[in-house]
Amino acid sequence: MSDREKDNPSHPTPPSPDEIQKEIETFMRDKFGKNIQIVAQPFGFDGVSDSNETIEEPEEVEERPEFDLDFDYSPRDIKNYLDKYVIKQDEAKKALAIAVCDHYNHVRECHEADMDPDIELDDDNYSKQNVIMLGPTGVGKTYLVKVIAKLIGVPFVKADATRFTEMGYVGSNVDDLVRDLVHMASDNIELAQYGIIYFDEADKIAGSSEHGGKDVSGRGVQHALLKLMEETEIDLRSGNDVASQMQAFMDFQRSGKVSKKVINTKHILFIVSGAFHGLDDIIRKRLRTGAIGLKSPKSKDKLKSEKDIFKYANTKDFIDFGLEPEFIGRLPVRLSCQALSIDDLYGILKESKGSIIYQYIRAFSAYGIEVFFKDEALREIAEYAFEESTGARALMTVCEKIFRDFKFELPSTDIKSFVVTKDLVDDPKKELSKIMADPYYSRRMVFEEKVRESERRFFDEHNIIVKLNDDALGEYFELYKDSGRNVEAMTAELFQGFIHGLKIIEQNNGTMEFILEKEAITDPSNYFELMIKNSYKK
Ligand code: ADP
Repeated sequence: MSDREKDNPSHPTPPSPDEIQKEIETFMRDKFGKNIQIVAQPFGFDGVSDSNETIEEPEEVEERPEFDLDFDYSPRDIKNYLDKYVIKQDEAKKALAIAVCDHYNHVRECHEADMDPDIELDDDNYSKQNVIMLGPTGVGKTYLVKVIAKLIGVPFVKADATRFTEMGYVGSNVDDLVRDLVHMASDNIELAQYGIIYFDEADKIAGSSEHGGKDVSGRGVQHALLKLMEETEIDLRSGNDVASQMQAFMDFQRSGKVSKKVINTKHILFIVSGAFHGLDDIIRKRLRTGAIGLKSPKSKDKLKSEKDIFKYANTKDFIDFGLEPEFIGRLPVRLSCQALSIDDLYGILKESKGSIIYQYIRAFSAYGIEVFFKDEALREIAEYAFEESTGARALMTVCEKIFRDFKFELPSTDIKSFVVTKDLVDDPKKELSKIMADPYYSRRMVFEEKVRESERRFFDEHNIIVKLNDDALGEYFELYKDSGRNVEAMTAELFQGFIHGLKIIEQNNGTMEFILEKEAITDPSNYFELMIKNSYKK
């Protein structure tokens, strides 16, 4: 007896389409083995479709509530917005911003022409600005598109090509991507038709014998995608989706009509991406032999040192790689993203609005724990991540390892704040036991972080650098530790008392940087009096 029947044994309700789908799926699996799959919503949503990616990705993107058909962004607007989230990849940002603006300007023009019969639109010669993005994993390809989709308020779906080449799938299931878009748009078909479909690992559907054998299914997927990229109408009720077929059947029983809901793919923007390993060799070979493409063949040395060889990729290179001419022909915007250096990874942690550190700050703050990241720690994390060679994805794996015990232990202790230092990154277990053994250990560090923050604020306000040296800081901590006061307020008050003296000294001898000693804390009047006297002498 099912749970539903147990709840109400006398009046079993009919099963829902989803339940029917589950039962049929179990039956089919038992009968035909696990390669049979019945597709309801086969793809992950919201760009986190990698089934082996268990770590939540940072998600800090301001968004417009809904796509505005009066699209009025300029490429620079979009690039400026992307800069806040995505580090590096300048050329890719520009090319993508232009493609997105062209695409949605065209959508707007079509919409205006639909609304106003006086407007004539020559649409026949327009070619959609679908994009192909090349570059290694974890360097921001998906992220760029995700951020743009959120900015302009259109639904976004990411699918991994490998899912379409597995046994049990046929090319026609590519259509499900469009249905996913509708799902992402909360069944708003109007909005879904302006969405973005992101097709990752497209190199896996290349059909040449060099890359993956005589891959008939890969070619099939290319053709299926091609159909979507051109213009077609997709029935929102998939033939493979038992749940939606059942729904259609029930609708028919109720109304006596077969309702047909379709979505047109004309305005859906397609972005195809992949690492395209091996394409670089094809390009190099062509450039070396001076074949079609560049006016003058590049010298061997220059080619070797050329980091961004993908920027020379032409249509023939893609065809040699195994993409169908019609398929690559439908992807006129080609761009590449670069591998990330240690500095870039550090920049992602420190500067990006989507930095993973905000995720940790939020996770700890849910337990009332404040966490501070020192720059030295961010750099160390970047260095460890770099060794993993998976781009910025490695930042997540590295952080996950570092903070696992902290997340497990700290919420059950009285510790309400801690500082992430280089030592902590290098040996998290050792630091955790120090923090747990001595309540003053992390309090002292957090205190220092907060004083340093006050020093930075003081500089912003007065344009004078003030820094307590180690002795002064130690003395100040002694004063603070049992005072029951708030560090920020106490330090603001302390610095307020310094301003008058510091300004006189600045006027007398132009000093703008002050490293304050212990006496500035223990005996400030005498300390500053002496400093002021000395400043007159100079
Ligand atoms: P891929 O290039 O494989 O599509 P993603 O864009 O999915 O990689 O990157 C994974 C995650 O790493 C992103 O969600 C983002 O948090 C981070 N990331 C990757 N590259 C960058 C970058 N250049 N700037 C900022 N964050 C990045």
